[in-house]
Amino acid sequence: MRLDLSKCSPFSRVACHLFCFALLCSFSKADTEYYRHIIFDNSLESDAYYYSDGRASSPSTLELLHGKLPVSRDVFFTPANALRLNWRSAPDGGWEAGIRAMNFRNREMKFDGDTLYFWCFSEEEIAGDKLPLIRLSDANQNFSQAVEIGKFQSSIPARKWVQVGIPLSEFRTGSIHPFEPSRAERVVFSQNRADGAEHTLIVDDFKIDAARAADSSAVNGSLPVPQNVSARGYERHVDISWEPITPADLQHYLVYRSTDGKDFQPIGIQVPGINRFNDYIGKPGMTAYYKVAASDRQYRLSDLSSPAHATTKMMSDDELLTMLQEECFRYYWEGAHPTAGTTLENIPGDDRILATGASGFGIMALIVGVNRGFITREQGLDRLIKIVSFLEKAPRYHGVWSHFMDGATGQTLPVFDMFDDGGDLVETAFLMEGLLAARQYFNGSGEPERGLFARISHLWETVEWDWYRRSMDSRALYWHWSSDWSWHINHQITGFNECMMVYLLAIASPTHPVPAKLYDSGWAGDHYTNGHSYYGIKLDVGVGSGGPLFFTHYSYMGFDPRGIHDRFTDYFENNQKMARINLTYSLQNPGHYKGYGADFWGLTASDGPDGYMPHEPTRRMDDGTMTFTGALSSFPYTPEASMRMFKHIYRDLGDRVWGVYGPRDAINLSQDWVSPIYMGLNQAPITVMIENYRTGLIWKLFMSNPEIQPMLGKIGFTRDVAPQKSGDGKK
Ligand code: CA
Repeated sequence: MRLDLSKCSPFSRVACHLFCFALLCSFSKADTEYYRHIIFDNSLESDAYYYSDGRASSPSTLELLHGKLPVSRDVFFTPANALRLNWRSAPDGGWEAGIRAMNFRNREMKFDGDTLYFWCFSEEEIAGDKLPLIRLSDANQNFSQAVEIGKFQSSIPARKWVQVGIPLSEFRTGSIHPFEPSRAERVVFSQNRADGAEHTLIVDDFKIDAARAADSSAVNGSLPVPQNVSARGYERHVDISWEPITPADLQHYLVYRSTDGKDFQPIGIQVPGINRFNDYIGKPGMTAYYKVAASDRQYRLSDLSSPAHATTKMMSDDELLTMLQEECFRYYWEGAHPTAGTTLENIPGDDRILATGASGFGIMALIVGVNRGFITREQGLDRLIKIVSFLEKAPRYHGVWSHFMDGATGQTLPVFDMFDDGGDLVETAFLMEGLLAARQYFNGSGEPERGLFARISHLWETVEWDWYRRSMDSRALYWHWSSDWSWHINHQITGFNECMMVYLLAIASPTHPVPAKLYDSGWAGDHYTNGHSYYGIKLDVGVGSGGPLFFTHYSYMGFDPRGIHDRFTDYFENNQKMARINLTYSLQNPGHYKGYGADFWGLTASDGPDGYMPHEPTRRMDDGTMTFTGALSSFPYTPEASMRMFKHIYRDLGDRVWGVYGPRDAINLSQDWVSPIYMGLNQAPITVMIENYRTGLIWKLFMSNPEIQPMLGKIGFTRDVAPQKSGDGKK
């Protein structure tokens, strides 16, 4: 498709340009392909690489930093760092150092290629027979026999980067089962010849790729130069973006910085599919210049782009909040699936997997994006139409979408287990929460908006909430149904947790409602009320000390709890108490975890060093992992404490956690771990709940749906005369 820019008027030429840019974004390569090759490129932590390990048996030695391999920040092949192997192989001793691939959520450890490549650098020449042995181990913990690096690299010359390439066929199994090189996930160096001398090897950019003949005719400029580089200064960081390039051989982008506009040094790389880089400078009043280049899979660089520059500056609280909202919004705008237009489960991750509930959250974030001018109304409307078109074609199970879908085909993806191949009522409720807010926002009288209104209404009216009651005498709704397995998962939806929205919408449905009495017998059935005090804060409703904070976010991004109460509690106050208990838990810090305090709190579900976990303020469900969405999505409940957390992680921890979509998912200071991913469930609540705190926008939209007020009446909610304001009130 090609647009003729000459036919555009000066005004619409800008729009054409934006449209072209959106098209390019849509068809750019995604990061999943990148991770089919890369075992290691850079460490997220700047002192030691989390996904490494090592051990030495005396008298041999191996340099380790709290059990991990140290990071080389000054010498690297791909910026910003590399790993340092410093060893001494002594007779009767031994050592081993393992470098693992980052095993982020839904990463399939399967590599494309026939050769293991990595780069080496040494200050002094190291002869081939003094280089370590190397092994690989695979995802099933089967391992290869040792291979002599010296067989493939006669020596490492002094002060010169060399790339070692070893055919995977050389790695024959050393374990009792076959070793699968394409599923290698750990590279292990170990003691070879005991020469008794200390050696240091800087190693970088481990990958599995196709062998190709050395192409000596290759020259700089083989890839196109990234165009339209721009830089925008915030308080402590500069956001650099450019137009994507799409050659199949693109391996990564390189970003260069200069402080004088003349001497440009490489500071980082970016994967294909993301055309943005976050340079955390750390203080206001700094001017920096940037250029971008592209590297192919043989590390041949394009020419450097034209420069762009920006200056960091102090920002007001209001400006900081807008910055945070926009950065998290980008996950759903730039990071969306190119075909479906909607939300990926996590980035990086598996770029097929769309998350249904997170798509509803993303829709609410898109509305905020339009309202705050991050994108135009037309762009937001186009995106909504694209999402709705996808949802209309995706399989539904009595009107209910599955938890995960393939973004290209809509096909149900049973990510959790074989039984989860049907409808998911909770995910569908969160999706519908977003769609209903969008229906009220795009309510213009023109055809596109009227058409969208009708199409969302049709989706809403064809969800068979009543089918998920399972039988006419059932007291509750059921989470899953599948045409293959029927009610096999058998999971009743009961509170208190994140699921209130399911009952609100099922009772509000104009076409497939369930009786309002299910609110009491199902949602508020068993174990709903609490009545205990935690740190002197009495909780009316909730499990234990409140559970993970997402319980107070997911249903209340649309449903405005201010001043509304049922016979159990006032939900705004109850949610506020959960946030305050969570905050107080961090102040008390019974697990003695690093960093916890008044500006570092908010336990909730997220990625963690051992995978996804619903962290909560109890010893059992707290492993020191702090999830940023916990406090940042609680702004309506605890604005002062949430702002303290925001400023701390941006101003003090920003160099470790701040990325292209705002804060990364989580950090564990006790384990020196930073999450490599952003999650679809966690970024949007930040954007949306901050908007609710600032203007109440999404609350107003959702509550204005004509089916909502009658539903509140049917359930028996009552409203205070004047809705109470959000705040840190200690009622
Ligand atoms: Ca590197």
